[in-house]
Amino acid sequence: MENYDIAVIGSGPGGYVAAIRSAQLGYKTVIIEKYDTLGGTCTNVGCIPTKALLDSTHHYAEARHQFGKHGIILDQIELDFSRMYQRKSEVVSKNTDGLNFLMNKNNITRLKGTAGFINNTAIKVDNETETVEITAKNYIIATGSKPSTVPGVEIDQQRIITSTEALALNEKPKSMVIIGGGVIGVEMASIFNRIGTQVTILEYADNLIATMDHELGKNLQKILKKEGIDIRLNQAVYKTESLGSSAKVFFKDKNGTENTLDAEYVLVAVGRSPYVKGLGLGNTDVLLDEWGFIKVNENNQTAVSHIYAIGDVIGGAMLAHKAEEEGVLVAETINGQNHRIHYDRIPSVVYTWPEVASVGHTEEYLKKNNIAYTVGKFPFSASARARASMDTDGFAKVLVDPKYGEVLGVHIIGARAADLIAQGVIAQEYEVTAEDMFRISYAHPTYSETLKEAYLIASGQGAVNI
Ligand code: FAD
Ligand code: NAD
Repeated sequence: MENYDIAVIGSGPGGYVAAIRSAQLGYKTVIIEKYDTLGGTCTNVGCIPTKALLDSTHHYAEARHQFGKHGIILDQIELDFSRMYQRKSEVVSKNTDGLNFLMNKNNITRLKGTAGFINNTAIKVDNETETVEITAKNYIIATGSKPSTVPGVEIDQQRIITSTEALALNEKPKSMVIIGGGVIGVEMASIFNRIGTQVTILEYADNLIATMDHELGKNLQKILKKEGIDIRLNQAVYKTESLGSSAKVFFKDKNGTENTLDAEYVLVAVGRSPYVKGLGLGNTDVLLDEWGFIKVNENNQTAVSHIYAIGDVIGGAMLAHKAEEEGVLVAETINGQNHRIHYDRIPSVVYTWPEVASVGHTEEYLKKNNIAYTVGKFPFSASARARASMDTDGFAKVLVDPKYGEVLGVHIIGARAADLIAQGVIAQEYEVTAEDMFRISYAHPTYSETLKEAYLIASGQGAVNI
């Protein structure tokens, strides 16, 4: 039986980063993945393929609606759906190839199969051809999550699908009802609406992307509505039915008024659940919480001190970069280092256009907790850079402590918000003040100047630039 220092179960962003960092620190490391390719949800059916399709469809929409204004006249614009999906798959392959390279470079052993604990100290790995048993001094569980659903909605993977099936379609859908106006809901709605699918979002809450600062969702709703997406808030879906070549959705509003919609596809995007199937946790002393997430302490140790867990399977923000941070933390904890993750400073990004990005407290949180704040808000329509690129939708909003000037929250909807938010993360991590943030120089003209102006306004000064 082969013995390792560290065995990592699952090769998503949590697992592959944990394995690489473990190997860099000199540990004999094995990574076990049940699928053929490494990379987990994020690389294969999550972050990477969705961003590839969001980019392709954004170019298509720009060519159709904006190029003429730039004076670029194209006779005919056609969409080759298969080519677009093929490019998406090529992007995924480049990333999974990159992971193979990194595993080899770092001398990490790779086992293909489903890993299941035999007891607290040994696991077996099953694949189509064999079962091997291994032991390790430490285990890192990084088995991720799977799409969840709601009562009455059965995912048949044909007409009633999840994001995974939506990323593997053979032809452009004519119509799609999306259940859930969270992150997956609005990203998927953007992809399909841009290529001419008739898209409806049914959302239970009274706002899109409801966990973010509410002004972001409200602004995004206006923009997506203008682009032709039918958005219905305060709607609870309670049943779906496959009709063979289409599907029916049953939903009701807050007053109990019932309604139905038919569409070629119904895409379920109501959140994700921890994935522990086949892991044999019943053979260990590892504990789960009431929602099925693996319970861990601040070092990501489970109830068994040499079994750690990271990423989506432990809950919290289900984000690739959160899983990555935990992967590094665990490898370094095993190595005797003492770091902490500041969970409140992990940014969230939604890759619609314009992008939405956020870090720190929302205005709703500050109000609810009676924390004093000032708001600085600057519209992209007043930015010279945004006008040059015709990306004038959105705003940068900063929330600042009125006494000390500490930056409490940064919320952006606007062009390249996903990249701009890094600056807000630094501001919060190093607890600099709004004045520090507006006294530094911002290249002109850039989208980042919207943040400078927002910091000036939050500090009681007027805007100085356009
Ligand atoms: P996963 O990536 O889920 O990886 C777990 C791996 O473990 C899988 O490969 C699985 O096969 C394997 N596994 C499970 N059980 C076993 C077992 N017993 N034995 C062996 N292997 C096993 N996050 C972002 O930050 N940015 C984005 O833009 C973004 N876009 C997304 C888009 C979509 C459509 C979806 C669905 C998610 C997106 N996410 C995004 C979320 C992100 O994908 C997850 O937060 C991230 O993948 C979690 O990483 P993980 O390592 O915890 O688990
Ligand atoms: P989510 O939690 O973001 O949104 C689910 C939405 O479904 C909620 O707004 C909820 O109110 C709604 N809902 C639930 N039950 C409903 C019902 N019966 N009828 C109508 N609406 C209902 O979940 P998601 O969009 O499925 O995404 C799953 C996870 O994947 C998220 O945690 C997210 O962090 C991650 N993800 C991240 C990115 C990114 O970082 N850009 C992209 C995609 C996914």
